[in-house]
Amino acid sequence: MAAHPISPPNAARRSGQIAIFLLMALVVLAFMVLWSVDIRRIVFMKGKSQDAGDASVLAAARWQGSTLNLIGEANLLRALAISAGDDVADDALANMQARLCFTGPMAAFAASQQAAKLNGVYANSNYTAVVHEHANTVRNTYTTIIGGTMLFPEPYLGAWTDYADMLDAIANDGVAAGPDNAQLYTDSIGGHILHQRAFYEAVASKNWCWFYHNYPDLLTNYTDHTFWPPLPNATTHNFENAEFFALHLNRSSLVLDHVIDTSALKMLAAQAGLDPTLITTQATQTVQSWYAYNPGRWGNWATMNPDGPAPFPITGPVLPQYDYSGADAVIRVETVASRLTPGLDGSNRSDTILWTAAAKPFGYLEADGERIRPDAWSIVLPAYHDIRLIPIDAASTGSDGFFDIEWRRHLMEHLPIYVATGTLQPGCAYCVTLTIWENPAFRAAGALWLSLNSAKCIVPPGGGPGGSPGGGTRRGH
Ligand SMILES: [Zn+2]
Repeated sequence: MAAHPISPPNAARRSGQIAIFLLMALVVLAFMVLWSVDIRRIVFMKGKSQDAGDASVLAAARWQGSTLNLIGEANLLRALAISAGDDVADDALANMQARLCFTGPMAAFAASQQAAKLNGVYANSNYTAVVHEHANTVRNTYTTIIGGTMLFPEPYLGAWTDYADMLDAIANDGVAAGPDNAQLYTDSIGGHILHQRAFYEAVASKNWCWFYHNYPDLLTNYTDHTFWPPLPNATTHNFENAEFFALHLNRSSLVLDHVIDTSALKMLAAQAGLDPTLITTQATQTVQSWYAYNPGRWGNWATMNPDGPAPFPITGPVLPQYDYSGADAVIRVETVASRLTPGLDGSNRSDTILWTAAAKPFGYLEADGERIRPDAWSIVLPAYHDIRLIPIDAASTGSDGFFDIEWRRHLMEHLPIYVATGTLQPGCAYCVTLTIWENPAFRAAGALWLSLNSAKCIVPPGGGPGGSPGGGTRRGH
């Protein structure tokens, strides 16, 4: 009898199919479990970033408020010193105020790092490197003598060395929270198109209306990189304020009698534990140099104007005594949530979670039973007793002042090469945008669209396609 090949019985074949099906189901299930763990990790890290960012920015704003109060109390002490004709004491107090404009913000910087770390955010090697680099710039470049004077005049003797040492001390411990509204003295202040983030945003999003409203001929007239005017040098800044968490104060020649009621001044002195009867007309009726609010920075809170064309981010009224811009703190923290689910190529993946937060010291002065803004009398006086988180969009993040490392590198390192030679750097998102811009077909498409559709660009601010949202730069979390 010949042997027949044995074919598997139906039952066995079926069990094999079930095994394969079970295996597939298991793989799917495993992926779902891993994926849900991933999601939970991301949500957890997002919560962690939020807690750390908020705690960090509140710590910074608290130090800003305390420093403003100290500088205000020193102004009151100076009124006593001037009244007594004690110029030595007055000079010493003014010197202390100049130092406080740096040490206060540096204490804010240090406190914000501690708060971020206590909430579980690790030092970020990029942030740390940038602060160390900047300390070197302060130490070596700011002190350069040009024509007998320092590149950036020192607000007090030895200020730049002092300041660089403080920055290094913070960076030595690792920077976890990036001060997002830092404004360096070397930063450009608008002007050149290539220094405007809005230009890059318009190119990347093909927002032709932006060109129509801002540079109507640019799309047709542009030739190549030689078209660009030279990049501007660092513009004038007020060197009396730290570049991180600045208080935006200046020394101002004032006659106190012209800006503040003497009885109000004496009441504040009494509240600070000083003898108000010691304040004489020598202090109140002669021109003296006081620490005052820089009116260019302590304006109204325009971005919070509920009656404006774009009432975002609030719709309710702001009490008049709180309606001031000025010193605020903005922080960014980054956390990484590593994924369990592998990428398509089997690699390990992770998500970077960025959180930005803003906070501000609040307070008010009292005059005739009314509460008025802390900067109402120009001179800095003790007034701050509160801190609050504020919407990012209502904070003082100028479009050039970000602690955005990629943007800063682009401005400082890539643009000079691009304007000189047309060469763009790989791996930089802003350079990629300029590559798009350099394509003549891209610009021709925009010019053509505008020649047919420019009427669509005339819309009320804040509404419709191409309209500018107005106010601050909108940034999501
Ligand atoms: Zn670049």
